[in-house]
Amino acid sequence: MARNLAILGSTGSIGTSTLDVVRRARDRFRVISLATGARGDLLLDQIREFAPRLVAVADRAAAEELRRRVGPGSGCEVAGGAEGIVAAATAGEADTVVAAISGSAGLVPVVEALRCGKQIALANKEVLVAAGELVASLARSRGVALLPVDSEHSAIFQCLKGEPRAALAKIILTASGGPFRGRPAAQLETVSPEEALRHPRWDMGAKITIDSATLMNKGLEVIEARWLFDIGYDSIEVVVHPESVVHSLVELCDGSVLAQLGMPDMRLPILCALTHPERLAVRLAPALDLAAVGRLTFEKPDTGAFPCLTLAVEAGRSGRTYPAVLSAANEVAVTRFLHGTLSYGGIARLVRAVLEAHAPADATCLATILECDRWAREAARLWEERC
Ligand code: MG
Repeated sequence: MARNLAILGSTGSIGTSTLDVVRRARDRFRVISLATGARGDLLLDQIREFAPRLVAVADRAAAEELRRRVGPGSGCEVAGGAEGIVAAATAGEADTVVAAISGSAGLVPVVEALRCGKQIALANKEVLVAAGELVASLARSRGVALLPVDSEHSAIFQCLKGEPRAALAKIILTASGGPFRGRPAAQLETVSPEEALRHPRWDMGAKITIDSATLMNKGLEVIEARWLFDIGYDSIEVVVHPESVVHSLVELCDGSVLAQLGMPDMRLPILCALTHPERLAVRLAPALDLAAVGRLTFEKPDTGAFPCLTLAVEAGRSGRTYPAVLSAANEVAVTRFLHGTLSYGGIARLVRAVLEAHAPADATCLATILECDRWAREAARLWEERC
């Protein structure tokens, strides 16, 4: 049976990888809708190749221009603005939403898709960081699956297939360590965006690549794991594994440890999510050659050099609206770092300062979460380093 897909963030790294999976298994998928921020030419190519019925562009002027270029009679409706993205997420025929819009912009479309009973293939971890309690309970009450696309969470999901929930004792998340692994804190203060964007293992969007360089990404993934697998923070461990071949592990109640391995290629977790519970006989990535890899190494994360990991886990433990504020402040900090108005070391200091200034509330209502998100962004934009 074919899956009918709504792909949010279709021109980004996960979106284009998803469409590549679709291309390799055309009889299994139909693309119903696409949504993206503003990019014109690539989206136009995607419309021609995959013939969606609805396309949404967040930027209204870009949507207007695309509407002219697509032309009437194409059978493809073009919607603009945030409500256009929600329309793409909730499109009638779609049964599965690939949520790959980066950052908290993806939150409202995912919540609306869940309310419509759509299955979610979740690549946007910020959704669960900001609104984990709300999203997890909504998914439970609608009886729909949250299928992880993040490689670590896909690994855990795969390791737990066939295991009773009560058998899970511990999650061990692997981290590549990013481009600055092994460098002391003092050398990291002033590294450039260009250096931070050079990830040794994964080719990803700018936001997540910077998050990987600060280890904030791993901290966000700890919070993501807490909600996806309904497990306490004391039972989630992070281990640095520079080869990125072991994508994560689970420890079961009898002490047995299961791992999922593969070459680093995001199309594998995407394929796994979109074909669950089946397995499709299609090879997307080169086969894992362990003898060629040679050595798999593991070490403890250096939380002194990478304070963002601890900041995120502490925000997760504090709960309420702290994780939403952490995520929003971090998004602004990353943008400022990329624009050269904040140092690398300043990212953690900015996020900590915004968390300390925050008056938390319960995170069970979308309006409260969005209000805290707005507050945190403003506070992060205005934050200045005092020398
Ligand atoms: Mg990941």
